[in-house]
Amino acid sequence: MNHELAELLFPNINKTREEIEAMFPDRNLKEGAMVTRFGPSPTGFLHIGNLYGAFQDSVMAHQSGGTMYLRLEDTDSKREVEGASDLILNSLSHFHISYDEGYGKEGIYGPYVQSKRKEIYQVFAKALVEEGKAYPCFMTESELQEIREGQELRKEITGIYGHYAVDRDLSLEEVKKHLEAGDEYVIRIKSPGNADKQIVLHDLIKGDILLPENIIDEVILKKDGIPTYHFAHVVDDHLMKTTHVIRGDEWVSSYPKHLQLFQLLGWKSPKYAHHAALTKKEDGKVRKLSKRKDPEFSVSYYKEAGIPAEALKLYLATLANTNFEEWYLQNKDKTIADFTFSYKKCPVGGTLFDMEKLNNICRTYFSRKTAEEIYEDALDYNQEYNKDYARIMEENKDRLIAFLNIERNAKRPRKDIATLKDLEEESFYMIDEYFFKDENITYQMPENKTYRYTRKIWGRI
Ligand code: GLU
Repeated sequence: MNHELAELLFPNINKTREEIEAMFPDRNLKEGAMVTRFGPSPTGFLHIGNLYGAFQDSVMAHQSGGTMYLRLEDTDSKREVEGASDLILNSLSHFHISYDEGYGKEGIYGPYVQSKRKEIYQVFAKALVEEGKAYPCFMTESELQEIREGQELRKEITGIYGHYAVDRDLSLEEVKKHLEAGDEYVIRIKSPGNADKQIVLHDLIKGDILLPENIIDEVILKKDGIPTYHFAHVVDDHLMKTTHVIRGDEWVSSYPKHLQLFQLLGWKSPKYAHHAALTKKEDGKVRKLSKRKDPEFSVSYYKEAGIPAEALKLYLATLANTNFEEWYLQNKDKTIADFTFSYKKCPVGGTLFDMEKLNNICRTYFSRKTAEEIYEDALDYNQEYNKDYARIMEENKDRLIAFLNIERNAKRPRKDIATLKDLEEESFYMIDEYFFKDENITYQMPENKTYRYTRKIWGRI
C-alpha cells in the first residue's frame, strides 16, 4: 500500500534515495575538520546577525582545515526580494568572508540554491511515504484554522498531531478519490513523538538543553511540491556533509523537529552551535537589534559609515569569543587568522552590540595602520561617498600623509581616526580650502591667543 501510495503521489520521481546519496560522496577531510554552511534566505539585505553567523562559519571551518559553503535557502518564494541574492554575495565579498564552495562558486555538492533541488527533496519525501513515515494531508485552510483556534482556546499545543491528524490513515481509495477530485494536499511526516518525553540538545555553545519531543506532523512538502525550510535544510545538511550547524538561538526551539527529521530519514544529525542574538541597550533596557529601529542592523550601514570591513570583523571576533579582545590588544602584529576560536569561549546569553565599543576597536585598528594605508583606504571611500573631498585628498596627498604620520609610531599612537570619514574633519586645518574658507570659524582657540597667532603656530601663514 505504501509503495502504491508513493507511486500515486510521485509518478515522475524515478530516482531512488540510494541513487541520490551516491551523487554526494563523502568529503575526504582530515579528522576534526569542520564543514560549516551559511544558509541565508534572499528575503532582503544581509543583517549584522547574518554576518556574525557567517563570520563564525568561516573561522571555524578554516581554522580546522575544513570547508565552508554558501547555500541559498529560497524555499519561501512569497518572502523573496529581487536582488537580495546579489546583495548577499556583495556583502560577503566586501567583508572578505571567504567560503570555499556554494552559490556564486563551484562545488560538487550543488546546486546550492534550494529552489533548484526540488527533485532531490521529492525523492526523499517519496521514500518517507514508501516507508510509511509520511502521508498526504488534504485538510483545507479553513479546517486547519478551525483546529488552531480551538487549540489556542484550550491552551493546547497548536498543529496537526494525534486525533487532529485525520488524514494520517486514509486508505488508498480515499487518497485516490481526493486526487481525482483535484484536491490540494501537502506531505506531512507521521511524527513518532511523545508529548511526555524530552530530548537533549547537546549544544556546543549553550551546553545541554532539555526540549520537548516533537509531536507535530510537520509539513515537509508544500502544496506546490516545494519543501519547507525544515525539510530542505535537513536533506541538504546531510547530503552536503555538514558537520557543524552554527546559527542564531532563535532556532533552538525548532531543534526537536529537525532532529526528528534526521531520525526519520535514518541519518546522523550534525553538531549544533546556537549563538545568542545580538542585542542593544536603549533607555536602560536591553532588546534585540531591530530591522525597523536600528540603522546598524543592515550590513550596508558600516560601509557607508566608513567602518572598514576588517575593523568590523575585529568586533565580530570580540563578540564571538570572550578572550579575543585581550589577545588582540596584546598581539599588535597579529590578525584574526592567527587566533584560535573555540565554542567554549562563545557568550551563552544575549550579546550586546555596542556602537561605542565598535568605535574604540576601530580607533585601535587605525592606530596600527600606516599613514599610507589609511590615506589609500580613505581615498577609496571618499571616491565613492564624497567626491569633493577625494579631489582635495589627491591634491594634498603628501600633506595628509604627513599629518597622519604625526605620533603614528609613538608608544601610545594617536587614536583620533575611528572611521574613514574622520580624516576630513580631523585634518581640516591642513587644507587651505577649508582653512581659509571662513575667518569667523567657531572652533575653539587656545585661551588668550588670537586666531592669527594660532594659524601661525599651525604653520599656515
Ligand atoms: N535560512 C535560514 C535563515 O535565513 C537559516 C537557518 C539555519 O541556518 O539553519 O534564517
